[in-house]
Amino acid sequence: MLPNGQQHIASLNDGRAVYLDGELVRDVTTHPAFRRTVASVAKLYDFQADPANAQLMTFKAPETGKPVNRIWQTPRSYQELVTRRQALEAWSKLHCGFIGRGPDHVASCISGLYMGLDVFEAYDPKRAGALADYYRYARDNSLYLTYVIINPQADRSKPASQQSGEYFTAGVVDQDAEGLTIRGAKMLATGSIMAHEVFVTCIQPLQPGDEKYAVSFVIPLNAKGLKILSWKSYEAQSPSVFDNPLSSRYDENDAVLYFDEVKVPWDRVFIANDIVMCQKQFHATPAHVYQNYQSMVRLSVKLKFLIGIARRTADMNGVIGFPQVREMLGQLAAEASMVDALVAAMEVKGRMHGPYFVPDRHTLYTAQVLTQQLYPRFVTALRELAGGGMIMLPSSVKDFANPEIADLIGKTQQSPLASAEDKVKFYKLAWDAVGSEFGSRHQQYEMFYAGATFVTKGHSFRTYDWDEAQGLLDRMLASYDLEGETGASTTM
Ligand SMILES: Cc1cc2nc3c(=O)[nH]c(=O)nc-3n(C[C@H](O)[C@H](O)[C@H](O)COP(=O)(O)OP(=O)(O)OC[C@H]3O[C@@H](n4cnc5c(N)ncnc54)[C@H](O)[C@@H]3O)c2cc1C
Repeated sequence: MLPNGQQHIASLNDGRAVYLDGELVRDVTTHPAFRRTVASVAKLYDFQADPANAQLMTFKAPETGKPVNRIWQTPRSYQELVTRRQALEAWSKLHCGFIGRGPDHVASCISGLYMGLDVFEAYDPKRAGALADYYRYARDNSLYLTYVIINPQADRSKPASQQSGEYFTAGVVDQDAEGLTIRGAKMLATGSIMAHEVFVTCIQPLQPGDEKYAVSFVIPLNAKGLKILSWKSYEAQSPSVFDNPLSSRYDENDAVLYFDEVKVPWDRVFIANDIVMCQKQFHATPAHVYQNYQSMVRLSVKLKFLIGIARRTADMNGVIGFPQVREMLGQLAAEASMVDALVAAMEVKGRMHGPYFVPDRHTLYTAQVLTQQLYPRFVTALRELAGGGMIMLPSSVKDFANPEIADLIGKTQQSPLASAEDKVKFYKLAWDAVGSEFGSRHQQYEMFYAGATFVTKGHSFRTYDWDEAQGLLDRMLASYDLEGETGASTTM
């Protein structure tokens, strides 16, 4: 039986060390900074456990025949990839794309690693065995994983080994028959206050001398010595769901992780002290493509939600008839559809990696480069459409409870579309999506979750079919010379 939301919530009261506002949080499932977001993720588990969604959300694990979530599916054909995507999409719709690192993100990464097991077998059969066992364990136990794959910022002009402090960046302090001992920090574990386990590794290129930081492993978030240093909680600052419907319920939270001599048993270690393998795990296997393909599926849902806000704004203010407003909406519609089309193109142009069907790598990197730039523009367009409407609002839901102020709200909030209450409700949601501090964090997230722009553009550069492009150029150049047209032109 797949766990439902309640069972999922119960599994998170596990003694993990989350630090917030100067205190150790005892139980994230009840703490006012986290409980509503934990409950939002629990709804994903309710959805997967609902028998009505069995076909959409689950497949039978080949080894056991038992149903497991499609987020762990390793597609063997185009059709299986599409079926899996429909499950990812259905989950993203439950939070309108605002939970970036829900259980489907790192499950996609680990499934991608598993699809590249041959790469691990060539590296070390024992580590490959650990990865294969863990993939099945996480899948069969419906684990929610997050990851930390980036070293903390300090001096980006220097490698990890030359930062001040040998263990500023998390690295191996000791290694024995039991496993590794890790000390130091990693940035930035989104969702770590409420996931079960964390995948820890390094996706940034490491240099000779950085071997102790070249690890890849998983540990439970309640592991002894693991400290979760939470970023501020937007949920805590949003007591009213009406005032901040997104901040109050979808604040997935970001945290710095500090490893204070954390023991990692060998059966959870996939790479130890190998800088080449750290890169290969992402780029020689389908892992990087699968994790980021999930992100694009999520983003396509989020953009549809945001364009819904844009359209409603225009209707709410009676500006939908103006040609300039229609033009703006037409631009946004084209951009949102472009992301949909890129997801479809990744699937159609996908190819086999051994027995597995993998989305097209370059189309994915195209989508990353373009959407990092698109998201801030999209948000700006929504703000432009709204004018002061997202600000011309009652201070809080409490104003409705005071008859005198409620009367004034009725007199000051008008729309051709909605009642005063519905107008306020809509604009508070719109502001939360694009203008609140939560909305601002989302902009930073969409700009950086896949790496800085020089990183994604580098992926695009490396994976583009330059031969085809240059071949076209060369054939054109060969079609004429100082004397005019040559015979080569007939082959164009
Ligand atoms: C909201 C949010 C959530 C996140 N969640 C996660 C998570 O769950 N797990 C995780 O592992 N990571 C997470 N991250 C981290 C994310 O992966 C990184 O922010 C991203 O990889 C960029 O790294 P950085 O922030 O260190 O920026 P940097 O790499 O330091 O880059 C910042 C800027 O510095 C300049 N720069 C730096 N280096 C170079 C260079 N070599 N060449 C040229 N210019 C350079 C560029 O202008 C660049 O835009 C999250 C980040 C954010 C903002």
